[in-house]
Amino acid sequence: MSGLRVRARGTVQGVGFRPFVYRLAVELRLAGEVSNDSEGVLIEVEGRAAGLDEFVRRLVDDAPPLARVTAVECSWRPPTGSTDAFRIVESRAGAVPAVPVSVDVATCDDCLSEVADPADRRFAYPFTNCTNCGPRYTIVRAIPYDRPATTMSGFPMCADCDAEYHDPADRRFHAQPNACPVCGPHLRLLGPDGTTRAEREGALEDAAVALLHGDVLAVKGLGGYHLVVDATSGDAVAELRRRKHRDDKPFAVMVPDVEAARVLCQLSDAAEDALVSPRRPIVLAPRRGDAALAEGVAPRLAEVGLMLPYTPLHHLLLERVARPLVMTSGNASDEPIAHVDDDAVVRLGPMVDAILTHNRPIHIRCDDSVVRSRLEDDVQMVRRSRGYAPEPLVLPDVARRQVLAVGAELKNTLAVAKGTSVVASHHIGDLEHLAAYRSFLQAVDHLCHLAGVEPEVVAHDLHPEYLSTKFALDMGVPTLGVQHHHAHIASCLVERRHPGPVLGLAFDGLGLGSCGTLWGGEFLVADLAGFQRVGHLRPVPLPGGDRANTEPWRMAMAWTHAALGRAAAERVGRPIDDRWAAVLALIEHPQVPTTTSVGRLFDAVAALLGLHPRMTYEAQAAIALEACTAGVPLGDGSGYDATVDDDGGIAVLDPTPLVARVVAERDNDTGAAVIAAGFHDGLGRSSARLAVDLAGRHGLDTVALSGGVFQNARLSEVVERACRDAGLTVLVHHQVPPNDGGISIGQAAIAALS
Ligand code: ZN
Ligand code: ZN
Ligand code: FE
Repeated sequence: MSGLRVRARGTVQGVGFRPFVYRLAVELRLAGEVSNDSEGVLIEVEGRAAGLDEFVRRLVDDAPPLARVTAVECSWRPPTGSTDAFRIVESRAGAVPAVPVSVDVATCDDCLSEVADPADRRFAYPFTNCTNCGPRYTIVRAIPYDRPATTMSGFPMCADCDAEYHDPADRRFHAQPNACPVCGPHLRLLGPDGTTRAEREGALEDAAVALLHGDVLAVKGLGGYHLVVDATSGDAVAELRRRKHRDDKPFAVMVPDVEAARVLCQLSDAAEDALVSPRRPIVLAPRRGDAALAEGVAPRLAEVGLMLPYTPLHHLLLERVARPLVMTSGNASDEPIAHVDDDAVVRLGPMVDAILTHNRPIHIRCDDSVVRSRLEDDVQMVRRSRGYAPEPLVLPDVARRQVLAVGAELKNTLAVAKGTSVVASHHIGDLEHLAAYRSFLQAVDHLCHLAGVEPEVVAHDLHPEYLSTKFALDMGVPTLGVQHHHAHIASCLVERRHPGPVLGLAFDGLGLGSCGTLWGGEFLVADLAGFQRVGHLRPVPLPGGDRANTEPWRMAMAWTHAALGRAAAERVGRPIDDRWAAVLALIEHPQVPTTTSVGRLFDAVAALLGLHPRMTYEAQAAIALEACTAGVPLGDGSGYDATVDDDGGIAVLDPTPLVARVVAERDNDTGAAVIAAGFHDGLGRSSARLAVDLAGRHGLDTVALSGGVFQNARLSEVVERACRDAGLTVLVHHQVPPNDGGISIGQAAIAALS
C-alpha cells in the first residue's frame, strides 16, 4: 500500500472533475478523498502502487471534456490504511479564491437526447444541463462554485434532481445548475409592455408561430437577450433594422446544425470545428452565392456570421421554426446587450412584438464570441467572450505582482494576472456608453473576486481621455501606463507563449504613442518588459480629429495631398463633401495633428475607390476594401510599392507612391477589385520587406503581427508569406483578438512581468 497527495491545477472546478476523480478511484479500488480548494483540486489517495500509477496517468488522459489540467503535482504520503470508500469532500470555504470558474458550455449530446425523448422527464425542457454542459460564468455570483453562489440559488432541487446531484455515478453528480420541469426555471412569453401572454410549452409554441409570421422577438439566452427574426424574410429583417436603428452592420444567423451552415457558407475544416465546438462562437465565413438568406442580413458583404444553438431553448426554437434565425444582440444600436429582465422590457419592449424570457437570472452579461475564417484552414478570434471567458491564459513566467489591467476604450475587456495566469473578462464594449461603463465597473469587482486578485498595480493605456485610464488613475493603487501598441504585441506574445524579443508589427486604427502623437503603423522591437520603436508609417494629417475616424473621405484627401499635392486632394474631396475646402485648410495647417495609422490609410484607399466615404460602423470601409478583393488571386503587388526613408535612425515606411498609383489607376477606370488587391499586396510586401530588414538589423528571427488591421486576412497572408519566405518565424493571433479586445491581456502581462 502507498499513499499519494495529488494537486491538479487549471480549469478543474465546475467541470465535473471531482465526480470524474471519484469514478476513477472507485474503478481502481483506491481509497481517499477529493476536494476543491482555492488552488484547484486536491486529492488524497491510497492503494496498490500499480493502481496509483494508472490513477495519475488517467487523471490527465481521461479528464472530462471541459477540464483543462495545466499541472499535476504528486507527493508521497504515508497510507492511513483506510478501508472507507473513496469520497468527495464539500468545498473548503474561507480560502482565497484563485481558480476561476469554467466557461459557459453548449448543451451536450446526452442532454440533447433527453430533451428529444418523449419518455424522459426532461422532454422539451429548455433548461436541461449536466456536469458536461450548461451555464457557468454567466450564473456565478461568487466562488467556490456551488449552487448557493449561483443564480440557481432560488430553485431548490426536487427529490429526483437531488438524487442525481448526490449520486456519484450520475452524469449530474454535483452539476450546480441541475434542474428539471418540476423544480427549475420556466419560460414566459411577454408582450412588449411586460404582461404575460403564455407560459412553459405554450410560450415556446407561440414564440415560434410569431417568428414564422415575421414578428421581431427578444429571446433570453445564456449571457443576455437576442433580437430574433426569420433570416429568410426580407421584410422581417428590414423591420428589425428599422426598429434597432441599425443601417448596415451585419447580423449573425443561427442555424440548427452544421449541414444547414454548409448550405449558407463555405466552411473550412477549422471553421466547422469552431462552429460545432462546445464554445459555440459566431463564425464569420464566405457566404455562398445561392444562400437563402435575406439580403439585409449582411448588406453588400461577402461574409456572414453563423452560429449553432447552444442552449436547449435555442434547439427547441429552431426545431419549431425550421429556418435560419437572425440572432443579434438585444440592444439599440451600439449599447451593451440587455441581460436583466426589467431592463430588457424597458429597453427592448419598444423594439419587439414579444419577449421570450425565463426566470433564471443572468449575473454576468456575456455577448457571443466571434471568430473569423482566415487563410485556407484557420480561424482567428475577433471577439473573445461567451465560451472563452474566463478561461485563463498562461504567462511565460510567474507574475511578480497581482495586476488589474483595464484595457482600452473601444471593444473593452479587463484582465487580471496572478501566479502564472492571466484571466481576461468577457467583452464589455465601448466605454463611452454609460451602460457599458457601468458594466465595466461591475466587471472589475467580479473578476478580481473570481480570480482572487487584490491589485498591487493597475495597468492602463497612455491615453488620458479613455474612461478606463481615468478609472485606473482614481483607484488609489500604484499604476502603470502601457503604450497601446506595445500592449498589442504583448498580447500576441502571451497567446503564442513566446518570451520575445520579437519584431512586432502593430497596425491598427489609432492609439496614443509615447510622445503624444497618434500611432497605428508601428514596427517595435518588443518583449514583455519593454519596447523600442524602430519604424513606423509616414505620418499624415488627421483632418478633423474624431471625424476623420468616421469619414474616410477626409483621410483620402490627406493621403492624396501627401502623395500628389493640393490640386489632386481637391479633386478627391470636392465631389464628395461640401466641407472639402475646410478639410484642405486643416491638412495644410501647421498645427494639425498627424497619425501613422495603417487603419486610416485603408480608410483613405477605400474612399478613393468610392467605398464608404462616410462610415456607419467601425472599420466598415476597411472591411469593404478587403471584401472587394475577393476573387483576385494574390499577386506580388508590383507597382504598388511603398518606399522606406530614414528619420534619425527610425525607418519610415512611405506609401505615397502606392497612393499615387491607386489614384492613377482609378483615373484610368481600372476595376476597383484590381486596385484594392494591388494595394493590399503592395502594402503587405513593402511592410514585410521592412520587417525582414529590421529583424536582421536587430538580430531577431521572429515577427509578431497584431492590431486590428491584421484581422484583414489578405494583408495578413501577404505579410506572413513574405516573412516566412525570408526565413523568419511569424506569430499571429488565434485565441486572443488582434484588435483592442486583446489590449487588457497585453497590459496585464507587461505589468505582471516587467
Ligand atoms: Zn449535458
Ligand atoms: Zn427537479
Ligand atoms: Fe489598437
